[in-house]
Amino acid sequence: LGGGVETQSITEFYGEFGTGKSQICQQLCVTVQLPYEHGGLDGGALYVDTENTFRPERIMQIAPRFNLDPEDVLKKIIFAEAYTSNHQVVLLENADEVIKDGDIRLIVVDSVTSHFRSEYIGRELLAPRQQELNRHLHKLIRMSRAFNTAVVVTNQVMAQPDAFFAKVVQPVGGHVMGHTSHTRVFLRKGRDNLRIAKLVVSPFLPEGETPLRITERGVEGEEDI
Ligand code: ATP
Ligand code: MG
Repeated sequence: LGGGVETQSITEFYGEFGTGKSQICQQLCVTVQLPYEHGGLDGGALYVDTENTFRPERIMQIAPRFNLDPEDVLKKIIFAEAYTSNHQVVLLENADEVIKDGDIRLIVVDSVTSHFRSEYIGRELLAPRQQELNRHLHKLIRMSRAFNTAVVVTNQVMAQPDAFFAKVVQPVGGHVMGHTSHTRVFLRKGRDNLRIAKLVVSPFLPEGETPLRITERGVEGEEDI
C-alpha cells in the first residue's frame, strides 16, 4: 500500500469468507499503536464489529510480533458491537468524544455492509439501502478528516449476476461503495493456503498483487513467507 493505510480516507478490504479481512483489521489495531518511527500512528483503535468476530485473544497473539505488550495493546482498542445497521450508524454518530479521549487513529468497521445487506431485502429497498449506506460512509469520511484517522472497512462479495461461466465476484454496495472507498483491496484464496491481496483502486498506486499468509503471528507478507 506504499507505506500503509492512508489517513483521512477509507480503505476497503473485500473478499469471500475466510480470506483474512477480519484478521487484517485486528492486526491493524495493533500496528496503529506502534510509534511513528516504526510505521505506526502512536494511537488507539476503535473497532465496530457487526459479525462478532473480534477476539481479544487474537490481539494478544499478534502484539508480541511487533514488540508491544499485549495487555497495553488491548487497553487501547475500544470495541463496540453493532447489532443492526441503525445501531451501527448511531454508534459512529456518537463516537466523537470516544475518538478524542481514546486518542483514536484507526476506525475499523467490520463489516460495513453486512447489516445493510441483510435488512434491506428486495429490489424496492435497494434505493433506500444505498442512500443509508452512502450517508454512513460519508460520515466515516468526515470523521477520518476531522480526527485525522485512518478508516478501514470490510465488505463481502456476491456473484456477478450476468456471469455465466467463470466465477466472477464483485463487492457488495455497488457504486456507493465504489465511489467512497479511496483504496480498495480484493482478497482471495490462493494455493497452499495463501491469500492473494490485489490492490484494485488507489489514489496514487498502480494495480498490484501480493501473497499473504495467516499464521499464529497474524497476517504475514511476502518478506515473511
Ligand atoms: P468473513 O467474510 O467470514 O468475515 P474474513 O475474511 O473476515 O471472513 P478472517 O476471519 O479474517 O476471514 O480469516 C479467517 C482465517 O484466518 C481462517 O482461514 C483461519 O484459519 C485463519 N486464522 C484465524 N486465526 C488464526 C491463527 N491463530 N493462526 C492461523 N490462522 C488463523
Ligand atoms: Mg470477517
